[in-house]
Amino acid sequence: MSFRIVRLAWMAALLVVAGAQSAAAQTAEAVIAASAKAMGIEGLNSIKMWGSGASFQVGQNNNAEGPWPRTNLNDFNRWIDFTQPATRTSAVTWAVPVTGGAAAQGAFNQFASPANTAWGQHLEIWTTPWGFLKGAQANGATLATETFDGTDYKVLTWSPPQKSPSGEPYKVVGYIGDDNLVHWVETWVEAPILGDLHVGTEFSNYRDLGGLKFPSTIIQSRAGSPTFEVQLLGVQANPADLADRLVAPPPPPAFGPPPGGTPQAASEQLAPGVWRIRGAYNALAVEFSDYVVLFEPGPQNEDRARAIIAETKRVIPGKPIRYGVISHHHFDHTSGLPAVVAEGITIVTPEVNKAFFERAFSAPRTLAPDAIGQSGKQAVIEGFPGDKRVFEDATRRFEIHVIQGLPHADGLVIGYLPKERILVYADMFNLPPADNPVPNPPVFGTQVFLANIERLGLQPERIMSIHSLNPDRLTSVGDIKASLGR
Ligand SMILES: [Zn+2]
Repeated sequence: MSFRIVRLAWMAALLVVAGAQSAAAQTAEAVIAASAKAMGIEGLNSIKMWGSGASFQVGQNNNAEGPWPRTNLNDFNRWIDFTQPATRTSAVTWAVPVTGGAAAQGAFNQFASPANTAWGQHLEIWTTPWGFLKGAQANGATLATETFDGTDYKVLTWSPPQKSPSGEPYKVVGYIGDDNLVHWVETWVEAPILGDLHVGTEFSNYRDLGGLKFPSTIIQSRAGSPTFEVQLLGVQANPADLADRLVAPPPPPAFGPPPGGTPQAASEQLAPGVWRIRGAYNALAVEFSDYVVLFEPGPQNEDRARAIIAETKRVIPGKPIRYGVISHHHFDHTSGLPAVVAEGITIVTPEVNKAFFERAFSAPRTLAPDAIGQSGKQAVIEGFPGDKRVFEDATRRFEIHVIQGLPHADGLVIGYLPKERILVYADMFNLPPADNPVPNPPVFGTQVFLANIERLGLQPERIMSIHSLNPDRLTSVGDIKASLGR
């Protein structure tokens, strides 16, 4: 059984196993020295490794309980300088576009340097087997023992010099086997939605290169699901090209709004009591006689969620925002939800997403307390059964429908106001930018979107996208049909 699976089973059962007793005869220093000797890291200041791997994107799975989606990494190369410390990873990706057709080449880059010591990047240095031992040597590791799957491991724990945003030290824990090799290293890092995120890396199928040991299989997981794996074809100690390679990669293409500054929320009245709260990600505020419903209350980040809530209160004063309906579970649409929870708003989503968010929002968030950690509020998640949830009183009807047949995300919903004939949606019909105009490619999601509008017999006049279109505007069924050549 894999170390990761065993460890996961333990975490799931919330089993705490501690055992310093049988290690009494040994000291941490002796264990580190024996492992450093077996691993052959004496004189190792830097390393280069290469092979074939994969990266998996946290928060973009097709189902909230499913594995993170995979991208293959070709021509994988990683350099690590343990002395600066710094690391650079590069790989080539090939992906078929969502529209189908020829695969397009992309780049995978990771970089960490002394200029930015964020643990999210630097853990890639210190959760390697060699980096773990060097960190243990430098940072006063402590020793315990644990038994996994019938095998005893010497367990070393240490903290790096950098502190988390809360001031809480980060923790690195490594498991040394009878062979004195490092088999598993785990740490925790702050993350949106997931709180103190567990990062576990398993090393297996060790090889020997003139005394230097390296694992030919590395599998790293976050929240128990793989986020990186590689089959190493080789390593090189103290590579000559190190200085040339440890340079910052070109910045990735912008995704979402530019960073920095407090996101502003402006608004536009679409009908009496119906407001589009504008931004890179829009929200829709719907007024009822006693309360307000927000569609997409917490996209992007907590600042954006707070801005949406404040603007909603400004345009619809004196009524509580009682419900927040999320379009789907993807993290770019939900990373602001902790601020929504702190506001006491009930999160409404199909049943398929409920258990994930309840688990995520009740997880510890000690490293960088978010609005949930700061407020102490418990998330209230309404997971509705079936494929429909209706908000209705004497003044208004707002229908939530689950989209069927969409690969993008299970439990993706649209909102529809039958009287006002306004429809709100996410991630199914994104027009190309003005400098790359129609005809649009026949995006599968657009076909599914139109099929669902027709299946449900909806007759929207104005259709609002959560992602602002370029140029920014509302669209119509006619626009959607035209983009499909109909
Ligand atoms: Zn999405």
